[in-house]
Amino acid sequence: MSDCLFCKIAAGEIPSKKVYEDDLCCAFYDIDPQAPTHFLVIPKEHIQSVSQVDGANQATVGHIFAVIARLSKELGLESYRVVSNIGDQAGQSVHHLHFHVLSGRDMTWPPG
Ligand code: AMP
Ligand code: ZN
Repeated sequence: MSDCLFCKIAAGEIPSKKVYEDDLCCAFYDIDPQAPTHFLVIPKEHIQSVSQVDGANQATVGHIFAVIARLSKELGLESYRVVSNIGDQAGQSVHHLHFHVLSGRDMTWPPG
């Protein structure tokens, strides 16, 4: 999608601090970290949010979760939270599917 921030980051057109990249997805540190470790994992393909996951892209989403598990192990994260906001009321500000991985501090439940 031409006017999407995360499509541009995935394509390398906007710089980011990348943690990981393969053919299907990439991971990069959040520009406004909410925990000592806070990175985002996104599909390279434009998917608006979890609400648009379907039979055609579910393999990519499954792959992203395997990447999250592997990266978190490699980074030595023992406990972490994976969050995806869907829609404005839930706090989604970038309308390209992304999973926040947050770690390194105590977290509260329920989330605000
Ligand atoms: P959400 O609010 O759930 O849609 O998450 C979007 C996230 O993208 C926020 O945590 C922002 O801090 C982060 N973000 C926005 N622009 C950038 C950028 N250029 N590089 C890295 N993270 C970004
Ligand atoms: Zn996009």
